Parts: sequence; C-alpha cells; structure tokens
Amino acid sequence: MPIDATLPYDDDNIFARILRGEIPAKTVYEDEFALAFHDINPQAPTHLLVIPKGRYVSWDDFSARAEDREIAGFVRAVGHVAREAGLVEPGYRLLANCGINSHQEVPHLHVHIFAGRPLGPMLA
Ligand code: C5P
Repeated sequence: MPIDATLPYDDDNIFARILRGEIPAKTVYEDEFALAFHDINPQAPTHLLVIPKGRYVSWDDFSARAEDREIAGFVRAVGHVAREAGLVEPGYRLLANCGINSHQEVPHLHVHIFAGRPLGPMLA
C-alpha cells in the first residue's frame, strides 16, 4: 500500500526495525548517517537501498527537516556505496519514491540504487 509522505514518522516501520537490528538485512555499508543493504525483491541485477539513520518519512521530510550534516552525510554515503559496488562505469540509477502517487511503500526515506544492466529510458 502506498503511504502518505506527510504522515508523522512511524517507529514500527520495517526500515526502523532494520536500523534497530530487529529484522535482518544484507548490509553492504554503514556509517554515522546511513545504512545500505540489498533490496529483498531486486528489480535489477544490483538493487541496493540506502537509508538515513534519522527518523525521516520521505525525501520531502528529509529535505525539509534534516540538518545539513545529515544531508551531506547521506548524499556522500549513497555515492560511496555506488562506487564501492563498482557501479560508476557503466552507470547506475537512483530513485526515491515520495508519497502516494510515487507508490512509496515504506515510510522511512530510502534511495534505490539500480544497476547491472542497461536500464532503458526513465519512466514517468
Ligand atoms: O520505494 P518503495 O517504498 O516502493 O520501496 C520499498 C522497497 O523496500 C521495495 O523495493 C521492497 O522490496 C524493499 N524492502 C526490502 N526489505 C524489506 C521490505 C521491503 O528490501 N524487509
């Protein structure tokens, strides 16, 4: 079910539980600001998710409320994960769903990293 990106943060959402170690994830990277892991239902040969450690529902929430250091740390973590996974050549796609029309399902901000095959033109 798509979620409303303007709802208050839900501490029981699945990514909050992954951050607390209550649910396992195939982690590839972790630092002060971010956690990255393999998507449980990959849509490309490489499909990673990068999430901030802070309590942010969506890209909208994060960009409005996060401290500059959290934003910088998170953006750097996304780039680091892609580089460490060897994705820069021949390239990768980032996607962040935000709200009902995007079909965001998990109410904790996450950036998808897709790679490993030609991804085709961007779909609206
Ligand atoms: O952007 P959206 O909210 O639709 O994507 C949620 C993503 O979280 C899905 O790709 C889903 O496979 C992934 N997921 C996961 N591990 C879970 C639950 C969901 O990787 N335990």
